[in-house]
Amino acid sequence: MFVVMTVGATEAEVLGVKSQILAEGMTPYDHVGQERTFIAVVGEVGPRKDHLASRLAALPGVETVTPISRPFKLTSREFHPEDTVIRVLDAVIGDGSLTVMAGPCSVESRDQLFETAGAVKSAGATILRGGAFKPRTSPYAFQGLGVEALRYLAEARDRTGLPVITEVMEPSQVDIVAEYADILQIGTRNMQNYSLLRDVGRVARPVMLKRGYGATVEEWLMAAEYIVSSGNPNVILCERGIRTFETYTRNTMDLAAVPVLHSLTPLPVIVDPSHATGKRWLVKPLAIGGVAVGADGVMVEVHPSPEDALSDAEQQLTLDQFRDLMVAIVPVHEHVRRLHGDLPIAGAAVGASDAVGASGGGLARHR
Ligand code: PEP
Ligand code: MN
Repeated sequence: MFVVMTVGATEAEVLGVKSQILAEGMTPYDHVGQERTFIAVVGEVGPRKDHLASRLAALPGVETVTPISRPFKLTSREFHPEDTVIRVLDAVIGDGSLTVMAGPCSVESRDQLFETAGAVKSAGATILRGGAFKPRTSPYAFQGLGVEALRYLAEARDRTGLPVITEVMEPSQVDIVAEYADILQIGTRNMQNYSLLRDVGRVARPVMLKRGYGATVEEWLMAAEYIVSSGNPNVILCERGIRTFETYTRNTMDLAAVPVLHSLTPLPVIVDPSHATGKRWLVKPLAIGGVAVGADGVMVEVHPSPEDALSDAEQQLTLDQFRDLMVAIVPVHEHVRRLHGDLPIAGAAVGASDAVGASGGGLARHR
């Protein structure tokens, strides 16, 4: 459940509600909206639910006490109706703009990373990706350059101005990865590694949580709930394909998950057609598809010479293919924004503000 404070509620009244929640053995989480404060009550309420709700409803400054019907609470739209907008350096994720995370599967050398970083930046990427610690199916495969790669990523960020994202595989790596990277990635294999989720919930860096390849949307949001309830509200969800009976593609990209998530949660959603398909030629059509169903952005793997890549050679795009992908997805994104009234329709008789007003100013998302 969550408490909706009155518009003019004082700080003392907010504090009063929080201490009552604590006194009942639960944890309060506030969300300061544009007009008022909402306080979620998190914990096992059990049979005391009605009693607790009426106690809270009677406190000064409280307008209503509302149940949250979903098992995920802090990550639900019921509690947090406005979209979560995440700012990292000059990049903004979830504000209706198109986020493009691009870079190699693995950082293999300084030159390989710098060449890729310069090319993806000039083609319009907004965030640089690159694996330093690699979760490989085989223990004999290239495991990543580790801390050496983190240093190259930080250098590439300083050169290009692009924030960098890289995977953290275990709790012992969280501090070092957070020291060098701007966004922490939790890979598909770790989506339900709860101690790792709690640890990244305690750092002041946004986290991109990839969908477990066998996880339902609800399990995925419950995993996000671990991060947010540990203190980090800046979570990005990434659909990277799930395992089905189909073997032609590496995974099956669940495009329906994008609008489903947008209806359930305020968190931004990115699609990763590289890991979803495993095939270079399928990355562009699925990136277009992801943007068309309202994703806040894409993550794609790019390598100066994909055939020589030390990991995921079959799915990485060449620098030219990445430029071509950008040319394809940018107009699709603009078209989707127009559909939702975020951009004026070219040649239409209404002004930009009328066009936005007509749809309630929603973002380029299907809800
Ligand atoms: C990656 O993005 O580098 C990666 C390993 O992806 P996933 O966890 O989705 O397989
Ligand atoms: Mn990869």
